[in-house]
Amino acid sequence: MQQRWRGVGKLYLRRWGWLARHRWERTPIGVRFAFTLTIVFMALLAPWICFSLFYLNAALSAQARLNQMRQAQVTELIIERELLSILRHGEDYSVWNDAREAVLQRDLKWLHTNTVEWLTQHFYYDVVAVLQTGSRTLVSNTPDNRWLVNLPLVQDALKGVGNAGLVRRDGAIYLLSATPICDEEWAHPPVGALVLAKALNRAQLDQISEQIGNRVVLTLHTDTEGIVPTLTEPQGDVIVLRNPSGTPIAALKVESPLSETLLTLELKRTAKNYVVGVSIAIALLASLVLVWFLRVYITRFLTAIQRLASGDWDARVPYAARDEFGFLARTFNTMAMQLQHVFEEQERQREEIQAQNEELQMLYQQLQTAHQELAQLNQELTEANQLLAQAAVTDGLTGLKNHRAFQESLNSLVQMAERHKQPLSLIMLDIDHFKEFNDRFGHPAGDELLRQVAEVLRQSGRAYDVAARYGGEEFALLLPNTTLEQAVQVAERLRSQISAIQNPYAPVSASLGVASYRFGTAPATLLYEADAALYRAKRNGRNRVCVYQPEAA
Ligand code: GH3
Ligand code: MG
Ligand code: MG
Repeated sequence: MQQRWRGVGKLYLRRWGWLARHRWERTPIGVRFAFTLTIVFMALLAPWICFSLFYLNAALSAQARLNQMRQAQVTELIIERELLSILRHGEDYSVWNDAREAVLQRDLKWLHTNTVEWLTQHFYYDVVAVLQTGSRTLVSNTPDNRWLVNLPLVQDALKGVGNAGLVRRDGAIYLLSATPICDEEWAHPPVGALVLAKALNRAQLDQISEQIGNRVVLTLHTDTEGIVPTLTEPQGDVIVLRNPSGTPIAALKVESPLSETLLTLELKRTAKNYVVGVSIAIALLASLVLVWFLRVYITRFLTAIQRLASGDWDARVPYAARDEFGFLARTFNTMAMQLQHVFEEQERQREEIQAQNEELQMLYQQLQTAHQELAQLNQELTEANQLLAQAAVTDGLTGLKNHRAFQESLNSLVQMAERHKQPLSLIMLDIDHFKEFNDRFGHPAGDELLRQVAEVLRQSGRAYDVAARYGGEEFALLLPNTTLEQAVQVAERLRSQISAIQNPYAPVSASLGVASYRFGTAPATLLYEADAALYRAKRNGRNRVCVYQPEAA
């Protein structure tokens, strides 16, 4: 279980760590820099702040203590003055001749009225007593006066030496004076003593507190009653009241009131806030000044980089000082200069390439024109070649195949007939008495007749029949896949068609020889046999069709 919680804790820590880092990385660098600098400055200022606060605290405390010491001294002076004043007061009353007379006469009524009552009612003394030499109390405002008689102060007064001091009695401290009662001229020894005492009560202490401006507190130390002949120097803020043997019987302490303590605390808090605030302000201001300073120089670099990035190759960082920024600026400027050189070189090369491109483009266009011209010429040449090839196999006068083309056709058709074992027939045709025709009507008329006969051959032949001018006025018609009988029929039809040729000169006729290919023989044999048949047709009277007959040859 514990292990599991530890795992969850780690997960949260990692998540918060990631968030803090993420946020930190997204914060502008100036803010991050200022923040870090402030932290650094604060860390540097921390000892100073602690030191200042410590000494401020010490100074304020010392000041407060010093104040209390002074107030203790003033308290002591006030008490001593009060003692003196009571002593003077007692002396005033004890040197009256009337008082002396009353003591001598033991006129208790007079003493009671004019001394005890008067002093008690008008000056608020807590103790007023008149003693007669021999230590007898004549009159007093307190029932128990025996303790008074035993006081050394009173004894001294009875002997003629007046004095004042502090006395502890019944849980109270009294400011007490004892003065000898004598005549005004001191002509006779004293007859008694006047004792006046005021308790150092709350009202008295309040009065003193008011005079010194601070609270005086009385603490009774022991139950020991006694006299304090002289006030000792205050120890710090305390006046210790000691009896003659040195035992402290009470103490007067100057206490700082709560308001003053609060004031000191407030002062300390204000001082602390002030010191911390000023330190933070100084740190922040110093950081901002530093950041501003850095920003100014970084902005110079950024501006130059932006200009360079947008293609302004003249961009440089103006910074002459020989510090780190100066080094960075010089390095950047060198880099920018090299970039500029590279760019200019590139630009020059680009222009060169562009010029070369344009030239190439022009050359390409010229080449294309030449190519088109060449293509044109090539086409013309092809056409001329085709014409030439056509002319090579065509008879110029009739448009039929010439002798050479006929020979090729004969060879190939014989091969085909042999391969497919199909019949192949050949008709040889010769115009009758053509020489005579030529002679009578002229060669142009003979040519015209040749063209008409050729037209008959072309019209009557099937698509795959081969009609050719064998030579002069002799024609041949190769009939693939045609038996001899069929060929004879074709020959007959040709003969009658030629006989039907209309021309303005004279009627014409032709003799035809027909032969069929015999498998296993040479092409020349077929040609020979057809020619032989033709010869027989001539011999037999012309204008007829003869079939090759082996025995007749
Ligand atoms: P046959 O009936 O025995 O065939 O008598 P023929 O006169 O027709 O025969 P021959 O072989 O003696 O004559 C052929 C003539 O054909 C000779 C020549 O003047 C003529 N000839 C040959 N070629 C041409 C040509 O291209 N044009 C013209 N007009 N005549 C030609
Ligand atoms: Mg002939
Ligand atoms: Mg002829």
